[in-house]
Amino acid sequence: MEKILHTFNGMEFTVGHAILEFSYLIAAILFVWGLKLLSHPETARKGNIWAAVGMILAMITTLFLHEDENGARIGLMNMVVIIITIGIGGAIGLVISKRVKMTAMPELVSFFNATGGAASALVGLLEFGNPGNESLLVTLLGLIIGSIAFSGSLIAYGKLSGKVGGLSAGFMKYVNILLLMGVIVLTVYILLQPDPQAYVYLVYLLFGVSLLYGILFVMPIGGADMPVVISLLNSLTGIAAAMAGFIYHNLAMILGGIFVGAAGSILTLLMCKAMNRSLWNVILGGFGGGSSAIGEEGGTVKEITLSDAAVLLAYSQKVVVVPGYGLAVAQAQHITHELEKVLEDKGVQVKYGIHPVAGRMPGHMNVLLAEADVSYDKLVEMEEINKEMAGTDVVIVVGANDVVNPAANETSGSPIYGMPIINAAEAKNVIVMKRGMGKGYAGIENPLFYRDNTRMLFGNAKDSIQKLVGEINTL
Ligand code: NDP
Repeated sequence: MEKILHTFNGMEFTVGHAILEFSYLIAAILFVWGLKLLSHPETARKGNIWAAVGMILAMITTLFLHEDENGARIGLMNMVVIIITIGIGGAIGLVISKRVKMTAMPELVSFFNATGGAASALVGLLEFGNPGNESLLVTLLGLIIGSIAFSGSLIAYGKLSGKVGGLSAGFMKYVNILLLMGVIVLTVYILLQPDPQAYVYLVYLLFGVSLLYGILFVMPIGGADMPVVISLLNSLTGIAAAMAGFIYHNLAMILGGIFVGAAGSILTLLMCKAMNRSLWNVILGGFGGGSSAIGEEGGTVKEITLSDAAVLLAYSQKVVVVPGYGLAVAQAQHITHELEKVLEDKGVQVKYGIHPVAGRMPGHMNVLLAEADVSYDKLVEMEEINKEMAGTDVVIVVGANDVVNPAANETSGSPIYGMPIINAAEAKNVIVMKRGMGKGYAGIENPLFYRDNTRMLFGNAKDSIQKLVGEINTL
């Protein structure tokens, strides 16, 4: 029998227990340190590693030292099953991480988010009927939030990969309100029963309604509003994991979940602000509208030749590059950095205008440009760069579309109306690099392409910039 160090509320604390709790404290410190490092692109990689070290420490000590209410080391008793499960999961994760293309990263993140939600929902389903379970409200909350995060993230995965289309109708907002009310009524009803654990069948109904709500609240999200939903789902997964941690009295799980939930909630609020949307609208679904093509269609676009573009850029004083999803598709980050250096050698000042939702995941452009060693102080946020637009000689739009679409400012019926954009049109000249007249994620026309001061340089962004660098070098 292990030495009992301390008794509290009838619970006995052993040396093993003390080591376990201490390891959780170290893990929590490593999580916080990791998060801090993650807040800057230069240190983000290290941040990931430190947080992973914290998680591995918590997993190992839990495996060897976690005890159930009878003092049995359940990790040790189930070691073979746990190691096989971790082995299979780890192998799948390793293969996916090696194979996935950078452009498919956002879908993968949504898919992983779904698995986190599913795990918390399963914990809720399994533990509700457990006679030792004293936290029924927390169990139900974990089940509800986990289920919504699971089905919602799967739909988000489908939408990002183009496998699931939009489904938008005005009445869906009311269906979602009804479903949310159904979830609340069922939860209260179950908890008010003299013996709630006898109502497991109602818990399954609650599971079903929550799954349906997750599907229906993400399904109609249209226009350019997916980023807000993605960060909301991310924070829900964290909150659900924290609830599961409460059920198992596991401090590491509670803390890890709270960190993810808090970081996700802050990101959601920032995204709401960036998109000029209210959180309430996101929760009820159906904002942003479908993919209707509203905008100044028709008109003619003007093209620019490579040599003209090279001369225009080389003799400018100030150039702003606005990167978008197409830069990620073309993997043009390294050559863009090259263009920046070539222009700077000619005495041109070059900055990057970063829109908060450019690309397909929060921080997408920062990650890509950091990978290409672009100096972080050259990346200027939307509000700041907009102040400099009128004094900019040339804006080069590299594979961006929605984030520079003036319809967001000017066309009140547009699905992206009200979303702040980078006001590229205010610069003296705009060069837009894209392959053709393809639309952006919101599926709408972009009047910027038809403006007098805009010229198009058609082609794959990487090839175009490569040729442009060659041309500038000959000047
Ligand atoms: P968009 O999706 O609006 O436009 C990308 C453009 O890139 C397309 O018009 C396409 O035109 C062009 N393109 C594609 N491939 C290439 C290539 N190889 N070379 C050159 N051009 C290419 O991108 P933005 O970054 O402007 O906007 C992001 C959108 O995604 C917003 O609507 C945002 O809300 C949404 N979104 C963002 C998320 C986030 O978290 N950041 C998550 C989910 C959605 P063409 O086919 O003619 O080449």
